[in-house]
Amino acid sequence: MDAINRIAHRHHLMVLEDACQAHGAIYNSTMGLQLNSLFGRRAGNNSHAAAFSFYPIKNLGCMGDGGAVTTDNSELAERVRAIVNYGQTVKYTHVYQGFNSRLDELQAAILRVKLQRLDHDNNRRIEIANYYSTHICHPAVEVMPAVTDKSHVYHIYPIRCKNRKQLQTLLTEAGIGTMTHYPIPIHRQQAYADYSHLAMPIADAWADEEISLPISPALTDDEVKQVVDCINQNIY
Ligand SMILES: *Cc1c(COP(=O)(O)O)cnc(C)c1O
Repeated sequence: MDAINRIAHRHHLMVLEDACQAHGAIYNSTMGLQLNSLFGRRAGNNSHAAAFSFYPIKNLGCMGDGGAVTTDNSELAERVRAIVNYGQTVKYTHVYQGFNSRLDELQAAILRVKLQRLDHDNNRRIEIANYYSTHICHPAVEVMPAVTDKSHVYHIYPIRCKNRKQLQTLLTEAGIGTMTHYPIPIHRQQAYADYSHLAMPIADAWADEEISLPISPALTDDEVKQVVDCINQNIY
């Protein structure tokens, strides 16, 4: 974020963070949590504005769809408040072409309670991720380096495997659900056909080899161990 913010500052650009998988993550957390420095600041607080999703499976999720924008720019905050409410600044006065994207009170009430558990839940995710990173050991699998501070809150836990299909089948047969984030890279999506001629070998390799392991804070130690055993003890 430091480098991105520097480039943006130099060129008079705004920086918008997509913090939808980063609720509670602390940027440069080795410096400790500090409010007035770019070190140790929570995700969503390192740019002009940030988007959070409260889709149910997110680190902080509600019981339906929801989201929020964070910013310390009051003019921008006012504009976002209007845009999510049909572009109205005052009832029946439409200043912007807006949407109906309000966070309803019921979801807000649920989120307010769950917010108190966010750090606790993230700590459990970090604990599981650390276990995976230090215990998964198989010649066909590449794990990410363990990050034990709070700079990564593990919305997903990705590993790479050249024989993804075989490993995914083994895990499925053992009752372990996995996902791929994401199977089709942006430049191969019809919606972005304009970019399809570009060579994106790194994105292609991730799309072919990535598997996301279970990482819910609700997992038990036994369940996490089962995942590791299934990966370590099979041939694929
Ligand atoms: C979930 C997610 C979104 C979309 O959030 P919605 O609430 O579905 O709009 C955007 N970006 C990232 C990185 C996400 O994980």
